[in-house]
Amino acid sequence: MERFRFALIGHNVTYSRSADIFERIFSLKNINGSCEIINIDPDGFVDRFRSITEEQVDGMSVTIPFKKAVMAYLDEIDPIAQAIEAVNSIRYTKGKKLGYNTDCFGFSKPLHPHANILKHGKALIFGAGGAAKAVVYTLYTDYEIKDFVILNRNMDKMRKFKESLSEKIDGMHMTLCKREDEGQIVNDRFDIAVNCTPLGGWNKPDLSPFPDSFDFNNLKIYYDLNYNTNNQLVKTAKTKTQVALDGSAMLVAQAIRSFYLWTGIQVNFDNVYSHVFGY
Ligand code: NAP
Repeated sequence: MERFRFALIGHNVTYSRSADIFERIFSLKNINGSCEIINIDPDGFVDRFRSITEEQVDGMSVTIPFKKAVMAYLDEIDPIAQAIEAVNSIRYTKGKKLGYNTDCFGFSKPLHPHANILKHGKALIFGAGGAAKAVVYTLYTDYEIKDFVILNRNMDKMRKFKESLSEKIDGMHMTLCKREDEGQIVNDRFDIAVNCTPLGGWNKPDLSPFPDSFDFNNLKIYYDLNYNTNNQLVKTAKTKTQVALDGSAMLVAQAIRSFYLWTGIQVNFDNVYSHVFGY
């Protein structure tokens, strides 16, 4: 029987649920496979990444902080990953390393039933890192959103973020908002707000990127990329917004997409999701 060997690389990734997801896929499909979690120190990244070969892995997931760094060591990169300058999935085949971005696919999946709310809407995005870029790009390509307000603590990073996306999104209107100016958004209405920061996540479940006086009633959809169950923001949104989503479905959907790219095998989302997250 064929054996599939996968790996996940990142820094401080011991908390990741990716291995659980792949274990579930192996068992559902009756496949002999393994997913090794490899913690890499950023200082030793290049040597360690280069030392991983096609003989050792068929596919690799890449997480923080290496999604951009890996790009320099790949043979080919797909157009979505090129557009957002981040690779989170690598296929090893015929002596080549091929880079993809499956975060966009994963982020979009739980929004499909709500496309009517989103189309041509207005989005509030917290954060200006790699995930925020995938989110803005997907809201534009899949839901035709062109009106964005970005809130981030580092203005310089936010400016570069806007510059890089402006080249890819035709007719984009993006307002950049610093902490000091965040009062500006308090009275605005948004079709969706997406939290692309670790605030509310594992180590920070009680922290929030929202201004204190922000009213969740001004949102139709709240989407938090973190997937810890004690996230206070998701709990509040569930009582006030039409739709409240955490990052669990995104995590499962991006892994299923990677699995397909690496093996050519389709997997049912609901079977994996209900087993790994139990709801
Ligand atoms: P990243 O590239 O490191 O960006 C992190 C962003 O969060 C930056 O804009 C950063 O602001 C901001 N930030 C970090 N700490 C902060 C703090 N204490 N206060 C305010 N802002 C802070 O990370 P990423 O890849 O975009 O990931 C962002 C989040 O999404 C993470 O929590 C990650 O786990 C989650 N994620 C989930 C999935 C999923 O499948 N569910 C997939 C990808 C990412 P500065 O620019 O000012 O530093």
